[in-house]
Amino acid sequence: MTSRRSFIQIIPLAGALALVARSAVAGAPNVDEKDPQAAALGYVADATKANKAKFPKYAAGQVCGNCQLYQGKATDPAGPCAIFAGKQVSSKGWCSAYTKKA
Ligand code: SF4
Repeated sequence: MTSRRSFIQIIPLAGALALVARSAVAGAPNVDEKDPQAAALGYVADATKANKAKFPKYAAGQVCGNCQLYQGKATDPAGPCAIFAGKQVSSKGWCSAYTKKA
């Protein structure tokens, strides 16, 4: 059984692990547009270069920075995305999984 004391000892450890995970992502490589998963989703580092013929749902103004799945700050040049684990996407990028941030 977990005592209150051991539970309290776990909290700082969990916080430290979260920080390590976050800094690991900060140094993560950028998604390569030619990566098979990226290519399948039509990911481009520059949203204005989205393939509008193949992905007609793209609309001007849609960028990773204002996508629900983007986990960085909109002002950061790049940040993690829920779709591409362990990698970073350009905040000015786009892919067909784009979902407007609520
Ligand atoms: Fe960018 Fe959103 Fe696609 Fe991730 S899901 S690559 S944040 S548009």
